[in-house]
Amino acid sequence: MSQTYQKRSTAEWQSMDAGHYLHPFTDFKDQMERGSRIITRAEGPYIYTSDGQKILDGMSGLWCCNLGYGQQEIADAVAEQLKELPFYNSFFQCAHPPSIELSAKLAEVAAPHMNNVFYTGSGSEANDTVIRMVHRYWDLLGQPERKIFISRHNAYHGSTIGGASLGGMGGMHSQFTRLPYVHHVDQPYWYGEGGDMSPEEFGLKAARSIETKILELGADKVAAFIGEPIQGAGGVIVPPSTYWPEVKRICDQYGILLITDEVICGFGRTGHWFGADYFNVEADLMPFAKGVTNGYQPLGGVMVGDRVADVLKTQGGEFYHGYTYSGHPAACAAALATINILQRDKILEQVRDTKGVYLQEQFATLADHPIVGEARGVGFVGAIELTNDKSARTRFDDNSTAGDLCRAACIENGLVMRAVGDTMIIAPPLTMSTDEIDELVDRARKALDLTAQRLGK
Ligand SMILES: *Cc1c(COP(=O)(O)O)cnc(C)c1O
Repeated sequence: MSQTYQKRSTAEWQSMDAGHYLHPFTDFKDQMERGSRIITRAEGPYIYTSDGQKILDGMSGLWCCNLGYGQQEIADAVAEQLKELPFYNSFFQCAHPPSIELSAKLAEVAAPHMNNVFYTGSGSEANDTVIRMVHRYWDLLGQPERKIFISRHNAYHGSTIGGASLGGMGGMHSQFTRLPYVHHVDQPYWYGEGGDMSPEEFGLKAARSIETKILELGADKVAAFIGEPIQGAGGVIVPPSTYWPEVKRICDQYGILLITDEVICGFGRTGHWFGADYFNVEADLMPFAKGVTNGYQPLGGVMVGDRVADVLKTQGGEFYHGYTYSGHPAACAAALATINILQRDKILEQVRDTKGVYLQEQFATLADHPIVGEARGVGFVGAIELTNDKSARTRFDDNSTAGDLCRAACIENGLVMRAVGDTMIIAPPLTMSTDEIDELVDRARKALDLTAQRLGK
């Protein structure tokens, strides 16, 4: 096998890294001072560092390697496609077999009214595409004044200008000028914001903040509402059962489009193909990315429901939008191989009926830990809230020292768990065995013990 780089010592790599490489979502000063963790290989649910540490990857890379690492079939599918046809564009009425086959496959697995797809290179580009497509849709219908998107505080929809404007991350908003036509409403975060209300009452209240906003802005000016079925980067926020049905009612009542951002929930995370399926809500558009290729190739896209597709396909006139790599053949081949494994090995069924149930049962046992206020989740995604007062559901402090401490303690114990403030989150590979699930929960408990000790609890 040809080697494109030399094998070096960790120190050498860290120094080259600090000298030349600006990482995403990174404090560059901090990166230079502390040195990066260098990951050199991976197998199953484990990653290995340049120092030889073996770490259980509780985050599936970055929510994308849903089938874990070492999936030879996907690697082969990509390699074969690169040899047959490494690239051709899909502009100007061109296409190739992998992009066509994948489109039909996605239509097959998505809800019956989802029959078309537009490809992008990432989830952020998918959400930019959503904005462009929604504006085009309303223009074609002769309602060009419908331009407003309603999204939620603490949402994550990517990091392009469009994606980050749709998102509701205060830190990101403070570093660029947002699109003026995106407005934010309450998130359905009962643990953090529900106060004395029951989760069900609070779910309705959060949904109705959308209605209040629509009435405030003018129903004829609102184009769409966008939300992640389960907020991921915001801290794995699973909405109360009352939330999505009420959101759907509101969207229908005012005729606005409903968009579920499936970049994390899609492709099996909840035991269903999409988060909308899990919550039994019919979306008009579904941006997706991450798990679609098991992380083996960058690919994103937007599933387009018939309501929108019918207008786009019957009205005529060019849609001036697309990316050079929209529907890249190797990425589409990776997606086809991924979906094939998900179907053949009955991965969704296992997440829904057996292993996902087991993971949630075991993960829930962490709620009895003295510094844990809540453990929650669905299928193969979960969160625990660190707290110094279980009944008051308060956070340790605003600087999320507890979260950072816990994250470091996890790594020391050979586990990747991510910290969002004082919320610890997991999204492990759906292919984990029950033994590996036990190992994950066991390591998480040890890390919590260590965190409590370091916090003097
Ligand atoms: C990660 C993510 C995105 C952005 O996807 P990229 O591929 O990083 O651009 C968008 N939406 C959600 C819900 C995500 O989790």
